[in-house]
Amino acid sequence: MADFKTHAMGAALVSGVLATGLFMTGEVVRSAVVGYFALGFIGGLLPDIDSSHSIPVRIAFHILAVVAGFLMLFAVGQRYSLAELVILWLACYILIRHGLFTLFNRFTVHRGLIHSVPAAALFGLVTVLLAYRGFGASALQAWLCGSFLFAGCLVHLLLDELYSVNLQGMRLKNSFGTAFSFGSPHNRLGALLLYLAVIGLFYLSPSAKTFVAFLLDHDVQRRVFNRLLPGHDWFAGFLTFCNIVSVRLS
Ligand SMILES: [Zn+2]
Repeated sequence: MADFKTHAMGAALVSGVLATGLFMTGEVVRSAVVGYFALGFIGGLLPDIDSSHSIPVRIAFHILAVVAGFLMLFAVGQRYSLAELVILWLACYILIRHGLFTLFNRFTVHRGLIHSVPAAALFGLVTVLLAYRGFGASALQAWLCGSFLFAGCLVHLLLDELYSVNLQGMRLKNSFGTAFSFGSPHNRLGALLLYLAVIGLFYLSPSAKTFVAFLLDHDVQRRVFNRLLPGHDWFAGFLTFCNIVSVRLS
């Protein structure tokens, strides 16, 4: 199984290449590309949220505990003294950081349903819906958001699968085939519910027609493929630029 650093690097690399390709189409603004990249990166860490040792989960619960504590203070701040508020904030923090975290760990098995392809699809579709209904994104933008998150999740699952091949002895470790899974055989009901949720969310999502048309658009494809490799020289103009700088400096 790949570690946190490998997942972060893999997700950043794939998401970065995809985001750059998207930018080359000339159809999206620069700031949106950064957002898509971030979603791909988050997707690369998401399948491990069921692991109690996962660094992002620990950080997420920590932040949630602090933020929830402050939200509660804003809600009841007028009524109590400072001493009472500090006690309330601490109680809220401990309840979430330890109580809720322990509960979450008890009910999720690492490499269970969350660590699977249908769960990745579910995360992607939730992102599509959130972007479309919550943030007022267009159908194309919403599907791009969901696709980046989904792609990040797939990179995570593939990396875990690759790491289950012992490259030195070319042997397969016991974990081979468990990372890139389509559902857990130990939890058939859970897997069925997961697939039903994916179908339900797909029907709730905006039409993917503009997104598919965008991907299949020959003009868009040509703009990216034309720039896959340099036309004449690699880094054309870069040496001239360096010469000008060195002459100016001397
Ligand atoms: Zn994993």
